[in-house]
Amino acid sequence: MSKDKMKAVVINAPGDYGIQMVDVPDVPDGGLLLQVLACGLCGCDLRTLRSGHHRVTLPFIVGHEVAGKVVATGKDYTGKWQEGEVIAVGPLVFCGKCDFCLEGKFELCENYQEIGQHFQGGFAEYLAIPKGAVERGTILTVPSTLEPWAAAVAEPIASCVHAQEKGRITKGETVLIIGAGPIGCVHTAMAKAAGAKKVIIADVNRIRLDLAVPFGADTCIDTSQVNLVEEMKKETEGKGADVVITANPVPETQVQAVEIARKGGRILLFGGVPPEKERPGINTNLIHYNALEVMGTTIFNARHYKKAMDLLASGAIPLNNFITHRFSLDDFVEGAKIALNGESIKMVIEPKW
Ligand SMILES: [Zn+2]
Ligand SMILES: [Zn+2]
Repeated sequence: MSKDKMKAVVINAPGDYGIQMVDVPDVPDGGLLLQVLACGLCGCDLRTLRSGHHRVTLPFIVGHEVAGKVVATGKDYTGKWQEGEVIAVGPLVFCGKCDFCLEGKFELCENYQEIGQHFQGGFAEYLAIPKGAVERGTILTVPSTLEPWAAAVAEPIASCVHAQEKGRITKGETVLIIGAGPIGCVHTAMAKAAGAKKVIIADVNRIRLDLAVPFGADTCIDTSQVNLVEEMKKETEGKGADVVITANPVPETQVQAVEIARKGGRILLFGGVPPEKERPGINTNLIHYNALEVMGTTIFNARHYKKAMDLLASGAIPLNNFITHRFSLDDFVEGAKIALNGESIKMVIEPKW
């Protein structure tokens, strides 16, 4: 029997991708088949489109910020989501067996797998959700107040929730966010929601800075024009920022972060530095003598994903400013061009238009 076909964005080789007809995935045993309603385009998807990914074997379908409708449940399925239900799917599948999972620190899982890396992703009409994701993943029913295109972006927001939980921003604090991309914008809105007195956002790109204003930034610093460390002294009467978040891949900004933080301040290293770039030469004496806390976070667990969905539903993230572009699956290549040029904050692809 020949299989049903669907449209999907297939990456055949780095830089070579487009819509193809492929088989609709089988419903995995114990898992789900989703009709994809929305899938967010992430920075790491763009990198994979451009240059491949060490965990992805081409040809492959990426996309991991998904909302969709359950259209079938697999053999021996024991999950709670039923046919017709609209769910949001975070891509992470935790092993449930490593020391960290046993301690409940799923975000540190040694063996986690991801939809869109280990399993085919969501830039397609249908997506298979494996049994492991149903049992040990990050899946939520989409609240009736949220459209699928909005719920899809709970995934990147969950990573920010995780970071800010660790960063403990409290009322009256001054927060600097370096990087005005989608992540920097979310951090800005969240810092404001946490009660920060002053949120400053810095970027080398004036267009991005302007796009970040609606997220609640009190001050924008265009680092193509001024020295960030000097400018921050002026902004904080020489004291420094209580919290500095680096939301970009530039090593130099990590060096600056420890110079900008106030005594006793917290630094969240959110953006990873590409391995081929030089290690940043951080002045560790500043960490020592100024009693700084330098923290890292990556990915998230189900608790952060839930909180991200609550944040979206609460309106704390200005969605119309965050999701700047929505494209149909057919127009994926055109949309990806805009995103690759850095002209969008967040783009969501919706297969059924
Ligand atoms: Zn993402
Ligand atoms: Zn684990």
